[in-house]
Amino acid sequence: MQNATPRVALVTGAARGIGLAIAKRFIADGWSVGLLDIDADTLSRSVATIGEPIRAVALPCDVSVAAQVNQAVATVKTRFGRLDALVNNAGVAVFKPLMETSEAEWNRVLAVNLTGPFLTAQAAVPLMAETGGAIVNITSISGLRASTLRVAYGTSKAALAHLTKQEAAELAGLGIRVNAVAPGPVDTAMAKEVHSPAIRADYHDAIPLNRYGLEEEIAEAVFYLCGNKASYITGQTLAVDGGFDAVGIGLP
Ligand code: NAD
Repeated sequence: MQNATPRVALVTGAARGIGLAIAKRFIADGWSVGLLDIDADTLSRSVATIGEPIRAVALPCDVSVAAQVNQAVATVKTRFGRLDALVNNAGVAVFKPLMETSEAEWNRVLAVNLTGPFLTAQAAVPLMAETGGAIVNITSISGLRASTLRVAYGTSKAALAHLTKQEAAELAGLGIRVNAVAPGPVDTAMAKEVHSPAIRADYHDAIPLNRYGLEEEIAEAVFYLCGNKASYITGQTLAVDGGFDAVGIGLP
């Protein structure tokens, strides 16, 4: 059933890339959005470009720090009074093999990509439970398939897919659905940093649609899973990957 009052989403990692596209998708449909990011300067510029000072609020925050996450959710409650959707999109990527990944790199990837969504869910669920709602965790095809170079990143995303199922089981009774979207490669700042020419060629060969995805294509899937049209879907991971996972050609 459509709620009468404007709905509210909290999107992490929303200063740029896929997260900003997700925030804009909600804004386009009349939602209010809390855009959360650790990069306060880029976040402030991005929120200004949205041009909706009432419905789009910047929330500078590190998702791996519980006190900051709790403060961000408190700001959403004060500002908008409700929370219908939480999108855990903030992430960091380290593309290195096992023997070259430092303990610090491992810990940072797990802290942002896995502990972050755990903390945001803990902070947001009491407010979300007042109306019911949906959580979407952004995982990756790197969490569906193993490959070299992704020991920390792939493991963090596979664990996040399982956290999605755990939360779906636990939060259904509160009227909260929990799903994941696993993007294939999207040419964001993150991809520009970690996708070498060799990785780009591998993806091109392994993806039946023969191209990278667009930020907006990921955002559309997230928006669907957060809305009432997905009312009977919970505990699932939807790969938005040009057919990569279905066809099964491996990456080196
Ligand atoms: P991006 O690097 O362009 O954006 C990530 C955003 O997260 C940045 O704005 C960054 O400042 C923010 N962030 C990082 N650490 C944070 C923290 N501790 N607290 C709050 N914010 C933090 O990356 P993107 O490509 O837009 O990726 C978005 C999500 O999609 C990530 O979870 C990523 O793992 C996932 N993903 C990306 C791709 C791809 O090819 N781009 C593929 C699969 C999955």
